[in-house]
Amino acid sequence: GFNCGIVGLPNVGKSTLFNALTKAGIDAENFPFCTIEPNSGIVPMPDPRLDALSAIVKPQKTLPTTMEFVDIAGLVAGASKGEGLGNKFLANIRETHAIAHVVRCFEDDNVIHVANSVDPKRDIEIIDLELIFADLDSCEKQLQKVTRNAKGGDKDAIAQKALLEQLIPHFSEGKPARSLLKNLSPEERQLAKGFHLLTNKPIMYIANVAEDGFENNPYLDTVNAIAAEEDAIVVPVCNKIEAEIAELDDGEEKDMFLESLGLEEPGLNRVIRAGYQLLDLQTYFTAGVKEVRAWTVKVGATAPQAAAVIHTDFEKGFIRAEVVSYDDFIQYNGEAGAKEAGKWRLEGKEYIVKDGDVMHFRFNV
Ligand code: GDP
Repeated sequence: GFNCGIVGLPNVGKSTLFNALTKAGIDAENFPFCTIEPNSGIVPMPDPRLDALSAIVKPQKTLPTTMEFVDIAGLVAGASKGEGLGNKFLANIRETHAIAHVVRCFEDDNVIHVANSVDPKRDIEIIDLELIFADLDSCEKQLQKVTRNAKGGDKDAIAQKALLEQLIPHFSEGKPARSLLKNLSPEERQLAKGFHLLTNKPIMYIANVAEDGFENNPYLDTVNAIAAEEDAIVVPVCNKIEAEIAELDDGEEKDMFLESLGLEEPGLNRVIRAGYQLLDLQTYFTAGVKEVRAWTVKVGATAPQAAAVIHTDFEKGFIRAEVVSYDDFIQYNGEAGAKEAGKWRLEGKEYIVKDGDVMHFRFNV
C-alpha cells in the first residue's frame, strides 16, 4: 500500500487531523493484510463510482481502496542533530512515500505556539531545514562509503559519488533535493532513489485554518505562495471542524451538519484525494458477485503490475486481462451488457491500465 506521513511543528493540529482521519478510517478486520500500528490509520479513498458498480453487481461485499496516514509527532528544531528522539522521527519519515506538512494558519490565544507567534513561512522553514540537515548528514556518510568503492573503479560508485557531490553543497545552502533533481537527468533521478532522501519525497501542505479562515487569510496566502514556487499542493482544512465531523456516523445528522457548514463532503476527503494525486495514483476495479473492490495502482502501470496489487502470483502467471471501462460498465449495465455491445476487451501484458478500468485477470498458477 501507499502511505503519507503527517509532519509539522508541535501544536499545529497534527493529532487533531490524524484522529479525525482515523475515526473516518476503516475497520481493520476487513483488511487482514494491513499491519496497523498505533500511529498509523488506514483511510478509505472516497469514490462514488464504487457504489454505482455495486448497485449493478449487487455483491456480498464492497471494499474501497485505501491510503495509510502515519502520525509523525515530535519533529522539532534540532531533530536532525539526533537530539532526543529526533532520529527516530526522521527514520519514520524515511519509510513514508509522501509527506503531508501541517501548517498552523489559525489564531487562538488558548493554543500556545512553540515559537510564540503564528508565522507559516518560518514554521515551514524550520521543518524543511530539519529534513535538509538530515539529508545532508546521511549523504555525507554515503559519500565516504562510495568514495572508497569509486577508488576501486566501481562504475556505479563513481556515478553515485558525482551525484552526492552535487547534492551535498545544495543541502549546505539550505535547499531541498527536489529543487536540484528536477533539473537533472532521469538517470540521475533514478540513481538518487538509492539515497533514500527525505527532501525528494512529494509534499503537500495542509493549511490548518480557522472556521472562517478559508478566505481573506494572509497566513493561507503565504502557504499558497510557498507551495506555488515548489509545485506543491495546498489543502486548506479546519482540523477542529473535521474532528467534529468525524465524531458523527454517516447519516442524516452528519449530512445536516455538513450542509450547515456549506460543505458537500468532509474536508478530509480532499486530504485523502490530494495524497492520491501526490503519489500519482489511480484506481481500477474488480467487480465480482462476491466482492466489488477498488484497487490502487501507479499511473502508467501495466496490466500485470495491476494484477500484482491483488496477489504477486497474479503477476507471475499473468495471461490476459478482461477489461471494460467504468463508463461502459455503467452504461451497459454490467459485464454481460458491455460484452454484447462489444465494449469488453481482452488485453495482454503490455496494456497500460486506465483510471476506472473494471478488470478481471486470467492467470496460470
Ligand atoms: P499537534 O501537536 O500538532 O498534534 O497539535 P494538536 O492536534 O494536538 O492541536 C494542538 C491544540 O490546537 C489542541 O488544543 C487543538 O484542540 C487545537 N487545534 C487544532 N486544530 C485547531 C483549529 O483548527 N483551530 C483551533 N482554534 N484550534 C485547533
